[in-house]
Amino acid sequence: MNDTQLSTPSAHARLQGQVALVTGASAGIGAATALALAAEGAAVALVARRQERLEVLAGQIRAAGGQALVIGTDLNDAEQARATVTRAVSELGRLDILVNNAGLMLLGPVADADASDWERMMTLNVLTLMHLTQAAVQVMKPQGRGHIVNISSVSGRGAGPTSAGYSASKWAVGGFSEGLRQEVRLHGIRVTVIEPGVVATELTDHITHAATKAAYESRISEMTPLEAEDVAAAVVYATTQPQRVNVNEILIRPLDQG
Ligand code: NDP
Repeated sequence: MNDTQLSTPSAHARLQGQVALVTGASAGIGAATALALAAEGAAVALVARRQERLEVLAGQIRAAGGQALVIGTDLNDAEQARATVTRAVSELGRLDILVNNAGLMLLGPVADADASDWERMMTLNVLTLMHLTQAAVQVMKPQGRGHIVNISSVSGRGAGPTSAGYSASKWAVGGFSEGLRQEVRLHGIRVTVIEPGVVATELTDHITHAATKAAYESRISEMTPLEAEDVAAAVVYATTQPQRVNVNEILIRPLDQG
């Protein structure tokens, strides 16, 4: 992170007075998004399991004059996931933006896949996102305003060998988001799906199928991937538009990715 990315929120910060909850804020896209929203003046609830990392991030945000709340939680537990929304609202006063970012990409061929990988992805990438969204919408409806940002993937629009399980989870995010958008717009709530291509993060580290992991890492090494900050900028773009603008979808690939 450089100094500009950690700039102190100014009087012109476009999200001043708003509260955002970012899942998966301990690394990668989530951490960059939390910093970017805080730089726009939002108070940010930081959610992930690795609390010590969240504390460091919260320290950076506070040092720059922002407000951050650390919630160390395993989002695979639906009740704990919902409780993060309750806690953010009780400690920060409201909830304007939910960024459903926490996710897993456990690539592998269908025939050889560890079926527990599918369960972990469907739980975190899909069901957790749905539980959090429901809890957030219940808060946002009475406010008459809110924004749900779902981090999907290019794998939410297409699929290929070794991506079937991951794509299934991200296509589910797309279907859920489309129905949600049409429903909640009547209550002033906006819904944005962001579909990044390859981003340089820890996401690849968790792939359990060794040959697939090696092939994927080799593919990435031949390109200049997106940085987490590039995706964070897309979140900021969507969330800082005037209320009349509902940015439905942002597809963003590295120049090197076909
Ligand atoms: P990282 O692996 O860098 O970060 C994942 C985040 O999710 C971490 O903060 C991790 O925190 C959190 N997380 C994982 N499991 C849990 C859990 N059970 N409870 C709470 N938090 C959890 O990945 P990225 O930043 O790359 O990924 C973020 C999102 O972007 C994902 O949805 C991914 O599918 C999507 N994406 C990523 C792309 C890429 O190429 N990197 C491309 C397209 C989409 P902790 O371990 O501390 O709990």
